[in-house]
Amino acid sequence: MELKPNQVRLMMIQVADAVITAEPLLSQADRDLGDGDHGLGMARGMEAVKTQLEKLDPASVEQVFVTAGTAMMSSMGGASGALFGTLFRAGGKALAGRPVLDSQGLSLFLEAALEGVMKRGGAKPGDKTMIDALAPAAGEAGNVMDQPLPQALAAVAAAAEAGKDASKIMVAQFGRAKTLGDACIGFPDAGALSVTVILATMRDFVGV
Ligand code: ADP
Ligand code: MG
Repeated sequence: MELKPNQVRLMMIQVADAVITAEPLLSQADRDLGDGDHGLGMARGMEAVKTQLEKLDPASVEQVFVTAGTAMMSSMGGASGALFGTLFRAGGKALAGRPVLDSQGLSLFLEAALEGVMKRGGAKPGDKTMIDALAPAAGEAGNVMDQPLPQALAAVAAAAEAGKDASKIMVAQFGRAKTLGDACIGFPDAGALSVTVILATMRDFVGV
C-alpha cells in the first residue's frame, strides 16, 4: 500500500482534526508539567494546517508535509511551534522525489524528523520531551520498512505510545518542566503525547 500526495493531504487533515480534538488532554498534560499552553498551541497550529491543506492541490508528498510544517511554524510560536514545524518540514524534505508515501518513505520521514528536532532543540532521548516518542517511532520504522504501510504504521504508533509512557519516569531537562525536578515523575511529556496522537491518527487513516 502506498499513499498518493492527495491521500497524504487527507491523512494530514485527519491528523489536524485529531490534535484539535485532543486539545483538553494535551493542555492537561502540559499543566501537570509546564504552563498548560501546549494544547492550545497545537490546536492553533493544526487549524493553520487545515486552512493551508484544504486549498492545496499537492504535486508531491514532500509538499504536503512541508506545507503543514510551515503552517505550524508560522502560527504557533513558542518552543513547540519551531519543533513541530521542524518535524514536518525536515521529515517532508527527506521525501523529495518520491511519488508516494510507503513504509520506506515513512522511515525516511521519521529519521529526518528526529534529526531535525534534535538539532533544533538540543534535547536527546531521556530528557522527557517529544523526542522520547519520536525516537522510538523512528527506530521502529527502520525495523518494519519491509512491511506493508498499515502494519508499519501500527508498529510505529505502538512504539511512540510506549515511548510516551516511558517518559513518565523521566526527569525533565528542558522547558518549564525542568524546574520541577523529581516532581515530574508520574506524568508523561505533553509533546510526546502530541507525537502519539499524530502517529495513531496516521495508523487509523490507513487501517490494518
Ligand atoms: P512551551 O515550552 O514554549 O510552553 P509547549 O508547551 O507548546 O511550549 O511545548 C512543550 C513541549 O515541547 C514539551 O512537552 C516538549 O515535548 C517539547 N520541548 C520543549 N523543549 C524542547 C526541546 N529543547 N527539544 C525537544 N522538545 C522540546
Ligand atoms: Mg507549555
